Amino acid sequence: MFRELMGNERVSENETLRELHAKDESYHAQHLPDMVVFPESAEEVSAVVRLAGKAGVPVVPFGLGSSLEGHVIPYSGGITIDFSLMNRILEIRESDFLVRVQPGVTRSQLNKELKKYGLFFSVDPGADATLGGMAATNASGTTSVKYGVMRDQVRNLEVVLADGSVIHTGSLAAKSASGLHLNGLFVGSEGTLGCFTELTLRVYGIPEETAAARASFPTVDDAVQAVVSILQAGIPIARVELVDEPSMEQANRHSGTNYPVRPTLFLEFHGNKAGLRQDIEFCREIVTELGCERIEFETDTEGRNALWEARHNLAYAFIHGHPGRKMMVTDVCVPISELAGAVRHAREAVDRLGLIGGITGHVGDGNFHIILMIDMENEEEVKKADELNETIVKYALDRNGTCTGEHGVGVGKQKYQQLEHGPALAVMQAIKKALDPGNIMNPGKVIDFKQGGSAE
Ligand SMILES: Cc1cc2nc3c(=O)[nH]c(=O)nc-3n(C[C@H](O)[C@H](O)[C@H](O)COP(=O)(O)OP(=O)(O)OC[C@H]3O[C@@H](n4cnc5c(N)ncnc54)[C@H](O)[C@@H]3O)c2cc1C
Repeated sequence: MFRELMGNERVSENETLRELHAKDESYHAQHLPDMVVFPESAEEVSAVVRLAGKAGVPVVPFGLGSSLEGHVIPYSGGITIDFSLMNRILEIRESDFLVRVQPGVTRSQLNKELKKYGLFFSVDPGADATLGGMAATNASGTTSVKYGVMRDQVRNLEVVLADGSVIHTGSLAAKSASGLHLNGLFVGSEGTLGCFTELTLRVYGIPEETAAARASFPTVDDAVQAVVSILQAGIPIARVELVDEPSMEQANRHSGTNYPVRPTLFLEFHGNKAGLRQDIEFCREIVTELGCERIEFETDTEGRNALWEARHNLAYAFIHGHPGRKMMVTDVCVPISELAGAVRHAREAVDRLGLIGGITGHVGDGNFHIILMIDMENEEEVKKADELNETIVKYALDRNGTCTGEHGVGVGKQKYQQLEHGPALAVMQAIKKALDPGNIMNPGKVIDFKQGGSAE
C-alpha cells in the first residue's frame, strides 16, 4: 500500500538500506526497520502516518542519524521516514531574519546559502545534522552561550501528527502571548509527537568582526573558574569550549595541529572592531589573573577554521585513535556555579574507574561531555562506563541540573526521566497519550508508555 502511495523508488525493503537506518552514532544496539520511505511532501508524510496508524505500525522519523542516544533506532520495527529528499530551502526573509526550510536541509547547506545574504544560522552541533533532527533533539552546541539553543530559534513548525493531520505551532511574529507554547513542546520531542515537515527559523547577521583564541591553563579547574569569571563579568562571548589534556592530545594527533597539551579554552568573540577589542582585552586580563599560561589569538580565517575544526573533530579524533572501541558520550548540564565541582568530580570518576576518556564541553552553558572509548566486548568495562554515566547524571541532578544538556533522551537517558522530572513525567505521558494514543510515533523513546503505568 505504501508503494501505491509513493511508487517503488521511494519505498524500500532493501537489506542494506534498512541496515543504514538501524543505527545512530551511539553505542546502542542496532535494530532494523521493516521498511524505509523517502517522502517529498507533507501530504506524503501525512498519508504514510495515517496508513501506519490504521495498521498500528510504528513510524520513526530520520534526519541524518547523527544522534547519540539511540533516538532513531527502530526497536519495534516498522517504517522509518527518511527526510533526505525534503531538503529545500523554501524562503529567506532577509528583513525579518527568518528562513523557511524543509526538515532535511542540513545546517551547513543552510549556512552556505545564507552567506550570500550576509546572514548565518547559529546552532552548531558539530555534526552536519538536519534541521528537522536538530529541532527534534533541541540541539545546541558551541555558539549557544551567545545565541541560544534550537528551541530559541524556532518560530514555527509544520507538524504531521500521529493521526495524519497537519498543524502549525507558531507564526512569523517575534513574540506571542497567544495560546500554549507548542513550539516549545514539539522542539525536543524526538519524533515521539509528530513529524516536522517544515520549519521557520531565526537567523542572524554575520558579525562585522570575529576573533578566536586558545587559552591554556595549569588545571581543568583553573580553566573552568576562568569561564565562570568571564561570564560573571558579562563579556558577550560567542563560544567558550573546554578541552582537557587527553582531548588536546587526540586533537593534535587527528588534526595535525601542534597546540600545547594543557587544559585549554577555545574562545570566540563576535562584534564590531571597537567592541571586540574591549572584550578581548577584558577577557585577557581575567584569564591571566586566573593562571592562564598562554593565550594565542587566531586572527586570520585559516587559523580560526583550523581551531574550530580541531574542536569539532574531537569525537572522530577519539574514534580514530581507538580502533575497535565504541564511543559513549556523557552529556550533563549544571548551573554555572556548580560547573567546576562537576568537572572535577567527573575527572576523578573516570580515573577511579580506569576508563579511557577526555572531558570537553560547551562550558559557557554549564554543559560538558566525557568522550569515553569503550571495548563493547569487555563486559566489565561496559559496566564501569554505565556506572560512570550514572554517577555523573546523579551528581548533576543533585544540583538541580539535567541528565542531558543537548543530546536528548532517546533510549539511553530514559532511566533517569522519573528521577529528574518526578510527577511532571506523568504530565508528559498524558500529553504523549493524547497526541499519539496508538503509540506509533517513535515508540519506546523519551517517554516510555509503560513507565509509571499511566498511559496504557
Ligand atoms: C561527532 C558528533 C558531535 C555531536 N555534537 C553535538 C553537539 O555539540 N550538540 C548537540 O546538540 N548534538 C550533538 N550531536 C548529536 C546530533 O548531531 C544531534 O542530536 C542532531 O540534532 C541530530 O540530528 P540528525 O539530523 O542527525 O537527526 P537524527 O539522528 O536522524 O534524529 C534525531 C531525532 O530527531 C527525530 N527526527 C528527525 N527528523 C525529524 C523530523 N523531520 N520530524 C520529527 N522528528 C525528527 C528522530 O526521530 C530522532 O528522534 C553530535 C553528534 C556527533 C556524531
